[in-house]
Amino acid sequence: MICDSKTDAIRARQSAVRVDLRAVCASSLECAPHPSAPFVNVNCPAVLRLDTTLPAEGEPLSWFGTLGIRSFCGRQREEKDVIPGAFTYHRPSSVAEAVAILVSHGDEARPLSGGHSLIPMMKLRMAAPEHLVDLGGIADLKGITDDGSTITIRAMTTQHELIASDLLAQKLPIIRETALLIADPQIRYVGTLGGNVANGDPGNDMPALMQCLDAAYVLTGPDGERDVPARDFYEAAYFTALAPEEILTAVKIPVPPAGHGYAYEKLKRKVGDYATAAAAVVLTLDGGTVTFCSIALTNVSDTPLYAKEAGEILTGSTLDTATVARAVAAAEAITEPASDGRGPAEYRTKMAGVMLQKALSRAATRAAS
Ligand SMILES: Cc1cc2nc3c(=O)[nH]c(=O)nc-3n(C[C@H](O)[C@H](O)[C@H](O)COP(=O)(O)OP(=O)(O)OC[C@H]3O[C@@H](n4cnc5c(N)ncnc54)[C@H](O)[C@@H]3O)c2cc1C
Repeated sequence: MICDSKTDAIRARQSAVRVDLRAVCASSLECAPHPSAPFVNVNCPAVLRLDTTLPAEGEPLSWFGTLGIRSFCGRQREEKDVIPGAFTYHRPSSVAEAVAILVSHGDEARPLSGGHSLIPMMKLRMAAPEHLVDLGGIADLKGITDDGSTITIRAMTTQHELIASDLLAQKLPIIRETALLIADPQIRYVGTLGGNVANGDPGNDMPALMQCLDAAYVLTGPDGERDVPARDFYEAAYFTALAPEEILTAVKIPVPPAGHGYAYEKLKRKVGDYATAAAAVVLTLDGGTVTFCSIALTNVSDTPLYAKEAGEILTGSTLDTATVARAVAAAEAITEPASDGRGPAEYRTKMAGVMLQKALSRAATRAAS
């Protein structure tokens, strides 16, 4: 339907799912391309498709009158110069300062680390924070340390720095192996461990690995620090134990015994893709018998999955075919993948099992008996 006037557009609200406003809008009109928005951008900035209904008749259409937009969460805003929503940029130099900014703005503020998940979400208007708190200026959030039994990786350590770390290569080589399977070098130069695990995206690779390694996340807020096990942190896609005023400042990982076997197996459609399914395994062997086995899965549920039962089935075994098959079945049973561009749910569940089998085999080969 072509609308020549605001009145026509309002009339169209009952029937039309598509309104072409070119005749009435100047080219400066900007739109909100988000599924829960009342309208989304189609081809040119002045063409709107109505996904739901327009606001009630008589309700002011400020997005129309001002050629600004109405953001998906219902707030009225003027946004003319950027693709994401307008925001205030903060660059604190200490964790305390960053937390204070988060406290004063509540839900309207979000930490910014590498920005390689958050900025694309903002461009899609799936996130519209009004305050971005850039953690890049906080020196305390960088670095990797080892106290003998625990390795602490500070949140702003990039994926590239994980790959380059001699300490991790020696004591936790599965981190390097996993980081090398994330995206591509450009993203790994900027994307951080803290952002990857705090994000809550089930497609991210580090969360399942951290569950496999029984890591704990250090969350710092106005009342100080608390440690949350990675296995308890994820509640649903993009929902975690992190409170809006908290920052994930570090990841603490118990060092597995020397000689442990490890593998991260990831099936992806092409280089740089998120996992269709992936499995992380850490195990130890004594005379060919498994003395310890930890398993976690990526992107086959709303959250990363710690496959406790599968690990328990394998502990005490010699990784014989029948026991491995039982463990794989136990791991597959806890998956709940979505059917999407990466394949139907049944396929992705099966691929989780295949990735687990491959990871077990490689981990066993690497383990010193
Ligand atoms: C093309 C492409 C392909 C990718 N492929 C993969 C892949 O295969 N595997 C994979 O794992 N990732 C992949 N990523 C994501 C990438 O690894 C991101 O860098 C990472 O997920 C987020 O880290 P970041 O530092 O960029 O965080 P940001 O994007 O800055 O933040 C992500 C979220 O976490 C919050 N946050 C960030 N840091 C903290 C903190 N310290 N405390 C509390 N909250 C925080 C932010 O507010 C935001 O909500 C891909 C990204 C792109 C663009």
